[in-house]
Formats: sequence, structure tokens, C-alpha cells
Amino acid sequence: MAGPKHSCGVVGIRSVYNVVPSLQRSLLVIQHRGQESAGLSVWNGEEILTVKNNGLVNVVLNDTTLAGVEGRSGIGHVRYSTTGSKAPVNAQPLNVGTTLGPLSVAHNGDITNFQELKKKYMEQGWSFLTDSDSEMIAKIISKNISQFNDVIMAIKDTVKELDGAYSLAIMVNDHVYGVRDPYGFRPLCIGRTEGSNIIVSESAALISLGAEFVRDVEPGEIVEIDEKSIISYPPETKKPRAHCMFEWIYFARPDSVMDGRCVYDVRKNVGKILARESPADVDLVMPVPDSGRAHAIGYAMVSGVPYEEGFMKNRFVDRTFILPEQSARENAVSMKMNPISSTIKDKRILIVDDSIVRGTTLMKLIKMLKAAGAKEVHVRIGCPPVIAPCYYGVDMKSRDQFIATTHSVEEIRKEIGADSLAYISIKGLVEALGIPEEDLCLACVNNLYPTRIEGEKYRYD
Ligand code: 5GP
Ligand code: MG
Repeated sequence: MAGPKHSCGVVGIRSVYNVVPSLQRSLLVIQHRGQESAGLSVWNGEEILTVKNNGLVNVVLNDTTLAGVEGRSGIGHVRYSTTGSKAPVNAQPLNVGTTLGPLSVAHNGDITNFQELKKKYMEQGWSFLTDSDSEMIAKIISKNISQFNDVIMAIKDTVKELDGAYSLAIMVNDHVYGVRDPYGFRPLCIGRTEGSNIIVSESAALISLGAEFVRDVEPGEIVEIDEKSIISYPPETKKPRAHCMFEWIYFARPDSVMDGRCVYDVRKNVGKILARESPADVDLVMPVPDSGRAHAIGYAMVSGVPYEEGFMKNRFVDRTFILPEQSARENAVSMKMNPISSTIKDKRILIVDDSIVRGTTLMKLIKMLKAAGAKEVHVRIGCPPVIAPCYYGVDMKSRDQFIATTHSVEEIRKEIGADSLAYISIKGLVEALGIPEEDLCLACVNNLYPTRIEGEKYRYD
């Protein structure tokens, strides 16, 4: 599947006040969902103004770039770093014209029938500025607006055409809408303050706006918010739910609550279950910061083994995961992490991380621990072995990048140089989430896809 992949973050606000400061603040809180580009659109009473570019929120959206940009309706976006398609033209929100006025859209997820749709509409004479499925969404909504002369009907019809994962923030003139795909792959929730309503990828943003969490947008639901009310258009056809488990395990912030489950609590549960499933005779439990921290706390709680910090992470070094070259990735890991020798020397250590993808991070960290005098290094992982690509918006695209597709657990243990290695079981993961297995997307770990993808096993066959 070609096209840029984006596991991103979206926000939409309608208020009696200028929404620009709240959009900026929300995007800053969901910055972890995307560091490639940032942007916002506001309706200033006459037109939609959009400011977007490659770069972090604080760089792209600051007092200089936002001078004169004000409005009481707006949407925003942060875009995930991927290896390809870094052109600023892919930054969002994306704008198109419609017969009812200008439309701006911000998208999180991946449309799995993008290539078919693209072929179909190119044959009808459409042309595209970007290679992005988000532009496709905007153009289909625009087409449908001409047909129905009604935004809600247009969105409803668009939903029928799209397959895959999408959480959307949409603005048409001053109207703001939130949409979540019928499977509920990616999160989206609603919040309110005195005088404003908000839709946003993660509830952590609401805390920082001083907003009250209202509820999650339901899978397949369309909501229209204005400064006072939230109007719901429930799904017309129900699909089985398929919440992405990786949101809780790695992607989302620990202070977010998604579909009723607090991310921090889930991670801690994962650690507790790991301790029950795979105990070890060790002196210390340590996290791989920051992604393994809550998991490690849970492990320490149940095992009774003291929790210590064994690594100092340099918060100014970023992007080790997405570097294209293996040597650059390894180099970046050692730039990012330093061992704290006094806690490590002569100790039997158990380190906990959220996931192993290629194995780069752990291989490097275990070498560091041993060099710093660790007697033994045991590894526990909060996600079952990742064996299958994600078509729904997480940047894990091809089987050849997963160490677990070609290596057994024992082979991986040897490869990374650990004294023992255990992953949480799928059953344990489901227990930690407290969400029925049939309501989760576990495709990356069980190789069963909740929607039809060419060449992949469909879960319901
Ligand atoms: P590995 O080093 O095994 O290739 O990747 C695992 C490490 O990368 C873990 O520490 C995990 O926190 C992080 N990670 C897992 N998935 C992703 C992802 O989709 N994006 C980024 N940036 N990091 C990830
Ligand atoms: Mg990590």
C-alpha cells in the first residue's frame, strides 16, 4: 500500500472565545502523536485561515506565524514522522472548496482502500495535489456536499466509501464536526468548558484546557459541536469494534483515558500480569524510559522487586525509531540513553519495555548495562511479539522490519544478548486492557485483520 502513513493527532474547537490559544495548547499536549508537521485552521468570520508547516508545534504555531489569525471555530493537526513523504504539502489541515463554503479537514489513521478510490476518481478526471488519503477524504466530502447540499449527509455518505481507520476533525465555514470510523481504531473524545466544546484525539488535552471530559466519540458516530451543544449522529450501520491496542501500550499519553480505560492503568496492569506470567529472580526492576515506565512500575508492584531507574534519557534527542539506517538508529539510541552505573553494577536487573519491533533499542541497552557491570539482564515486554504490519495508522508497515517474524523468542533473546526474555501473552494483554478481545484490533500480534486487506487474513472468515 503506497501513500504516506500517519498516526496523527487531531483537535476541533468551537467557542465563544478565540480558539487559537486552545488549539495551540491541545496540539502541544498531543505532540507525541506526530512530530513531522503541525497546523491549524480557523474560521475568522469570512474565510478559513490555515497555518501549517513541517516542524514541531511550538515552531510552526507561534506568535509570529499566528499573527492576525483568530476565530471562534477551528481545527488542528499534528502529523507523525514517517520515513517518506515529508513534503510540507502533506501537512494538515487540508483545505478544499465546497458548494457550501470552504472545508478544512484533519485526519488521524489510514484509509485502506485509498488506492482503489484514487484510481476510481482519477478515471473520473479528478486530480490530486498530494499522495495523501486525507486529501481524498476532503475531496469526497466536497463532492458529496455538492450532491446533498448538507454537510452531515455528505459526511455520512463519505463514511460509506472509506475503509480503514480514521478519526477526523472537520470544519465547514464555522461549523465543526468530529468523525470516528465505524471500527473505532483510533481514539477521539469530546470535552467542554464554559463557552466551548472540543473534540480531540486524547483526553490529556482536555486536562490542560481545564475542560471537562464528556465522553468518547462512538465508533461510526458523527458529532457536530458548537459553543453550547453537542449534536450526535449515531452510526447507520454497526461494525465490530477494533480499538488499536497499541494506543494503550505505546502510542497514547499515560494521562489519557480512551474508551473508558486509563492508559497509565492499562500499562501498569500489563506490568503486573507480566510479573505473574514471567517472574524472575532479580535484584532490581528498571524501565526503558519513557515508554516502559508504567509497565515496569506494575511489574515491581507485583513481584516485590525494588524499582530503580537505570537509564537517564536525554529528552532533547528524538526520533531513533524512524531513522532509515540501522547504524544511525543504533547510534541514536546510545545518544539518547546513558546508564546510571551505581544502580547497575553487580546487579541482576530486569528491564521492562513496551514493545520490540526491530530489537535495536534493547540490543543496544543491554550492551550498555553489561558494560556498566550488570551481572544479569532479563527483559520483559509489554506487547506480544509484533509480527504483522499495521494498515490502520501505526508506522509499522512491513514484515521484514519485525525481528519476531523471522526469530523465535529464544533466538531474539540471544540476538539482543539478554539472560532471559518474555513477552506478555495475548490473553494477558487483553486482561490488562479489560476490553473484550473481539472489540480490539490485535492484527500486529495475531496476524488477523478486522477489515478486508488484500493478501492478509480477514479475522471474520
Ligand atoms: P525497536 O528498537 O525494537 O525497533 O523498537 C522498539 C522501541 O521503539 C520501543 O522502545 C518502543 O517504545 C518504540 N516504538 C515502538 N513502536 C514505535 C512507533 O511506532 N514509533 C516510534 N517512534 N517508536 C516506537
Ligand atoms: Mg521506547
